[in-house]
Amino acid sequence: MKFVTDRLYYHDSFLFQFEASVEESIERGDKHAIILDRTAFYPTSGGQVHDTGRLVVVESNEEVPVLEVADLDDGRVVHLTQSALGQGARVRGQIDATRRIDHIQQHTGQHVLSAAFMQLFNMATVSFHMGVESCTIDLDSQSVAAEQMERAERLANEIIAQDRPVAVRFVPLEEAQELGLRKLPPKQTGDLRLIDIKDFDLCACGGTHVRATGQIGCILLRKAEKVKQGTRMEFICGLRAITMARKDYATLTEAAALYSSHIHELPQQIRKSLEEAKSAAKAQHKLLEELADFQAEKLLAAAAGSPRLVVVVFPERDALFIKLLAQKLTAGKTDVVALLAAAAGQTTLVFAQSTGLQSNMGQLLKQTLAERGGRGGGSAELAQGGLPGSHDPASLKEILDNVAKQL
Ligand SMILES: [Zn+2]
Repeated sequence: MKFVTDRLYYHDSFLFQFEASVEESIERGDKHAIILDRTAFYPTSGGQVHDTGRLVVVESNEEVPVLEVADLDDGRVVHLTQSALGQGARVRGQIDATRRIDHIQQHTGQHVLSAAFMQLFNMATVSFHMGVESCTIDLDSQSVAAEQMERAERLANEIIAQDRPVAVRFVPLEEAQELGLRKLPPKQTGDLRLIDIKDFDLCACGGTHVRATGQIGCILLRKAEKVKQGTRMEFICGLRAITMARKDYATLTEAAALYSSHIHELPQQIRKSLEEAKSAAKAQHKLLEELADFQAEKLLAAAAGSPRLVVVVFPERDALFIKLLAQKLTAGKTDVVALLAAAAGQTTLVFAQSTGLQSNMGQLLKQTLAERGGRGGGSAELAQGGLPGSHDPASLKEILDNVAKQL
């Protein structure tokens, strides 16, 4: 008969140490594929991620870390390591128990959650993914309402609190088909491995599970999002849920401290702040308009020449203000040219003239900027651009005066 690895985890999910013999040790790229006659290491399958741990050679005590564990098509389990092991050597397998227990919690939690969605809303689970931070199931439903999420989460947690026994049994395929399983595997020969959550859920699965639902700890649903095959539901179980809840609380507490408010009042506080910021911006814009009006009047009164020329550098004003001012200076007039610069933030130049005058502000600005590595443009009437680096007011005034000579 063909050799198949004896999977010890099929019978005990909490077996973290075992002894085995090395059947094969094959070089595979920069790693080695170790095949044992028996193993408690779980290979990645059915959405559950593989175990890690180490193999210790009994004779020499040499330790070889197990980096990855995978299923081969022929029923064998392969352990990927950095170094080779001698064929026939006796080894002790040691599984990283913390990682395994976390996987058991997430994986069995998924059974309970999938069954809850099925029983309450007839939503079947079409796939399961276990991530480093969180897990997801895809439900074959176009949408899942917030209220449905809450109800499924509640039922799942009630089943956990009831600490229902989780039994494993092997049943011939024909018999299993009569039992009304929530999920049948796509192709299977021989006996099916059934996971039976007492009076709640029965399904075929090759993964590792808790002995009773209380060991899952708890289930916390996170977000639901639409995907191609239905709705993706993010969830976490056991200690992961506690860790995440702790992190969420710390984040909320930090944010609430900034507002000197209670965490539950945060949305209200943030809405209020946003409204305040919006009306403050509106008031500021109104003041800027008034200031620009006032400045324009003052500058025009002092301007000389024909057309009247206004050349000013504003060291403490920004682009928004000088653009506003340029419009105030030229709009409704027939004889004004304004060459303005602002140095607050990025250095900005704004050139503007009254409609009907002969110069081309866009062209003038482009020339001025091109000589100095700046970028910008505009129409014949109004143009705006930025200069790289910082410039003192005197050098900006010199640039503007040079432009004025070309008019
Ligand atoms: Zn399972």
